[in-house]
Order: sequence, then structure tokens, then C-alpha cells
Amino acid sequence: MNRLDDWRASGREVSVAGLARSGTAAARLLRARGIPVYVSDAGISDVLLAAAEALRAEPGPNVMVDVGGHDLARVVTSAALILSPGIPPDAAVVRAAADAGVLILAEAQLGLDAMAEIPSIAVTGTNGKTTTTGLADHLLRASGRRSVAAGNIGNPLSAVALADPRPEWLAVELSSFQLHDCPDLAPTVGILTNLAPDHLDRYPTLASYYADKARLFTNASAASIWVSNLDDFDSRAIVANVPGRHLAFAAAGTRADAWYDRGTATLMLAGQALLARAELPLLGDHNVANALAASLALHAVGVDHASLADGLATFRPLRHRMEPVREVDGVLWINDSKATNVASTRVAIQAMQRPFVLLLGGRHKGEPYVDLVGPLCQHAQAVVAYGEAGDLIEHDLGHAIRVVRGTTFEDVVAKARVLAKPGAAVLLSPACSSYDMFDNYEQRGATFRALVEEM
Ligand code: ADP
Repeated sequence: MNRLDDWRASGREVSVAGLARSGTAAARLLRARGIPVYVSDAGISDVLLAAAEALRAEPGPNVMVDVGGHDLARVVTSAALILSPGIPPDAAVVRAAADAGVLILAEAQLGLDAMAEIPSIAVTGTNGKTTTTGLADHLLRASGRRSVAAGNIGNPLSAVALADPRPEWLAVELSSFQLHDCPDLAPTVGILTNLAPDHLDRYPTLASYYADKARLFTNASAASIWVSNLDDFDSRAIVANVPGRHLAFAAAGTRADAWYDRGTATLMLAGQALLARAELPLLGDHNVANALAASLALHAVGVDHASLADGLATFRPLRHRMEPVREVDGVLWINDSKATNVASTRVAIQAMQRPFVLLLGGRHKGEPYVDLVGPLCQHAQAVVAYGEAGDLIEHDLGHAIRVVRGTTFEDVVAKARVLAKPGAAVLLSPACSSYDMFDNYEQRGATFRALVEEM
């Protein structure tokens, strides 16, 4: 019997924190399983009030909704607290539940519990999660399997669990925050893309961040299959003693189960050519790594070379990830708004084939920018630094490269337009979160696109 059956049998209420997409999906799933639900959100806005109203109006008993605060007395007597991805670990509601010994689960775990029989490819890592998850999903479909991409990619697992028909396969993106509260994760194949410093604003130490990533392996057994990055020292260290079958990919040129043969510019898989680099429609070697990781995982579950090659060749860049927007007066504008840490901006810089102006800034997340000096000095013409991180960026980079300061986002784009010469590019790859000026990275990328389209 799984925990959803236990909860229904006990008749106890389950609490859900957060009333955005994941929280409402969790509440609906619990209700559909006949489990009493208490769902609450500390925030108050028209969107939240509308979400609350919608839940209350749906047929079926047993859903209590609060907006503008959590009834902690109610939460601490629940059978469990389901967390939406946006709830920080130090939120009062999480602390109260933890102190009372209430079981705390990520919304993703709830969704996975409800789909325990469905095989899955689970993807985590610092960078490339969404792209690799999207690739895995696309490759599954290209091989004729009915797959859904879910989790941190923007599709709550609880919503997938309620869909009819249910998928045959899941490609699941998991952030470190979700992994923290997914104690029963046991994917058919688990992929660790890479590890690098990130989220130092939310984790006390790098080790604690890596420890959450390592929760991918919590239930590893001899039957597990793991895909990891041979080029990445920290990833190798973390997978070293994990039980199961280990497969490695390498984009830097070393031979591995899946690797990039630089001499012939060919992606190789299990000793055979898989695809010519020129046929992979994605910019940058980091995307070769993502393609190798996804292909290797699917090869491990029996998908053949021909279907994998077809799938890779028909994949399209995801929004806000090295996405070419438009060429204006000989200048190519590229939207990499999703690059919210230094490591991801570093690979974006390395992917550039033309001289370029880099738009860098936003809310600082704790990492120094000096790591960008080397790659920037090779191709970049200038940096436009902006947002809360502007001073730090100027301090870290100003000695090595021309740094121009921008104020509003319109001003940043206008300055870049003046700086970029025909034949060059402008790259928005900010290495920071967007929250000082925007709601999220999507809004930042959409604003960039709109400004470029107006030119
Ligand atoms: P995530 O979901 O982990 O944030 P995405 O696939 O959304 O990763 O890519 C976000 C950004 O990270 C991209 O725009 C790119 O700059 C960078 N990136 C993507 N794949 C990799 C990789 N394999 N290694 C390093 N950086 C990457």
C-alpha cells in the first residue's frame, strides 16, 4: 500500500503549502484520491485569491483553503505537509511542521507516489537540467513512447498524475530544493548533468547544496542506472560509491559510454557514431553534453541509435536558453536569460562564435564574477553591467575588460546596441537572478525579446 492509500484509510488531513500551480495541482490530486486537504499560502494577491476561489468552487468535499497566512495549528496536526517548490526551507510553516515531526514532502514526491508504476528518467544537476529533461522527453517520443516532461521544467507531477490517459514514461526535472523532500525517489535512470556553485543565497555552504543533489541517489540499488559527467570532477566524486550501473558521458573529448569525438565532430554512443555535430540544432558544447547525457539514458533503456539520432536532429532550442532572437543591422541578439549563475554564463560565453557584448547583472547570488574574465577576454568586446550586482560585476571584471554601466533594462539594451558592431552579437546571459527588476527569468527574457523586436 502506498502512502496515498494510507492517508485515505486514516481519514487524516494532509496540508499543502503554496497556492500556485504545484500547490493547486497537489490539492486536486489529494482530493481526487479521497484525502481531506488543507491548502494555504502566506501571500495575498488577486492571482492567489482567484486560485483559492477556483479550488473552493470545484466539486468534491474536503478542501479547505486559506490565503494570506497558514493556520499552523492545523498544519502541525496533519498527516503530512506537501511543499510547493517556491516555499523556502526556513519558512515558518516548514519549521513548525518539522518541529512537530510532521512528514514533509515535495509536491514532486506526491506526484511520483501517485505514478509509482510509471518508468522515469530523473534529471538533476546545476546546469542543463531543463534542456536535458526536454531532450529526454523528446527522444522518448521520437522512439514512439508516450512521454511527458514534468517537475521543475514547469509541469507539476501532481497535474500529470491526474491526466487521462497517463503517460507511459516520465522525464522529470528535479531541483536541489525538490530533491531535499523526495525521500522515496527511485527513477529507472537518474542523470546528474554537472555540479557547480549555485544558490549560495539559499544554502549555508556548497557542501549542503551538493548534499541535496546527492539525494538523487538515496535509494540506489544494484538495479539502478546512473548517467553522470566524466568531465566534471565534483560529479565524479559524488557518484563514486553509489550502488548501481554507472554510465558516463564526456563532451570534452575523452572516450566514454557517450562522448564527443572532436576530431570528426561526431557525437558517439556505445562505440558507434550517433550524430554529426552539425546536425544537432543547439548552440554550444554544453548542449553537446546535454544531448549525450539524454541519449545515454535512453540507450540504457533500449532505445536504438536511429531513433535517438532522429530525435536529436529534430529537437529545437528551449526558450530563454541560448535562443537566437533576431539579427538587427548585422548584430545577432541572443536570449540566455535562464543563465542565472556564473557557470551557466561561462558556457554561454564559450559557445559564442562571434565577438559580442554581454549583458550581465540582476540580483547577486553569492558567487564572484572573476571566473568569467578568462573566457570573456577571448571574444567579448564589452560588458554592460546592471542591477543590484552592477557594482560587484564592475569590481570583478573592470580591470580586464571594458565595463559599461546600465540603469533600466531599456537603457542596458540601448547601450548594447551602441556598443555592438555589425558582425557581432549581443548576449543576455546575466549570471544573476532577475528578482531585482523582474518577476522571473521568463519575464526578463520576454522583455529582452520585445525590445529587440521593436528595433
Ligand atoms: P537548468 O534547468 O539546470 O537551469 P537549462 O537547461 O535551463 O538548465 O539551461 C540554463 C542555462 O545553463 C543555459 O542557458 C546555459 O547557459 C547553461 N547550460 C545549459 N546546459 C549546460 C551544461 N550542460 N553545462 C553548463 N551550463 C549549461
